[in-house]
Amino acid sequence: MVASGKGGTGKSFFSSNLAYYINVEYGGVVAVDADAEAPDLLLLLGGSCKCVGVERLGGSWRALIDYSRCTSCLECVSVCRFYALDVVDGKLVVNKLYCEGCRACSLVCRYNAIDFIEVESGVIRHDISCSNVYVVTTDLVIGGRNTGKLVYLAREQASKKASEKGYKYIVVDAAAGIGCPVISSIVNSDLLVIVVEPTKPSINGALRLKDIADHFSIDSYLVVNKTGFTSISPEDIARELGIELLGSIPYDRVVVDSIACMKPMLAYKPDHVVSKKLREVFTRVMEVL
Ligand code: SF4
Ligand code: SF4
Repeated sequence: MVASGKGGTGKSFFSSNLAYYINVEYGGVVAVDADAEAPDLLLLLGGSCKCVGVERLGGSWRALIDYSRCTSCLECVSVCRFYALDVVDGKLVVNKLYCEGCRACSLVCRYNAIDFIEVESGVIRHDISCSNVYVVTTDLVIGGRNTGKLVYLAREQASKKASEKGYKYIVVDAAAGIGCPVISSIVNSDLLVIVVEPTKPSINGALRLKDIADHFSIDSYLVVNKTGFTSISPEDIARELGIELLGSIPYDRVVVDSIACMKPMLAYKPDHVVSKKLREVFTRVMEVL
């Protein structure tokens, strides 16, 4: 499980290369993109060469007005905290993109004029990437919710697929931050790699993430990405977080080039110093596992 506590640290860059490395060196892996609000792991692994399945999931609810009962008293409008109820041409309408399905409106409606419909919240895709990695992607539809559940289901499907194929490893690329989808990614994982960049906001995010990992008794280890970018050393970060440093990766523009070319760094420039450093870190990850 790879997470960061803050966006932009290079977590997905790290996850995509780790998945690529395990696939080549250990005969197979399932990579899971658990960042349902902005999935990009498949792109970092070369895009889809073959889509092998798409599952659409419900779990979101939207208010639906029964106009045969609605008296246009508008009592519901004032209780909607999400500004999802509006009056257009004298008629109450629900803005489906804003409605969170919280049901507050139906509690105040004395005419029982508000019902709810279940709508699609997201999809789980299965693809073989163009770098030959099996990728399970969570993707939220616009206005969709329940990302924690989506991640949980994606991890379940990834486990099933890994056992079917006889793969021993699953790499989960978590969402940024420490919210519900991240917690859903962390729970029951064997190892958490926290990817940190040498900046204060990233260290603070990592501290919060480590608290969550400790709460669930998940062993966490540190990887520092973009070293040389600031004067903060990887050892200082490891001391502040109180976790073991597995290694560090230098800041280099070539990483941006590899991402623009949609190729894992290990495939793009295998002999570059960044690739060498990545392999060193991955060797440590596998030793710790
Ligand atoms: S509270 Fe009920 S009756 Fe009144 S406007 Fe809202 S939906 Fe219509
Ligand atoms: S369910 Fe909640 S968010 Fe949706 S319209 Fe009713 S009060 Fe607003």
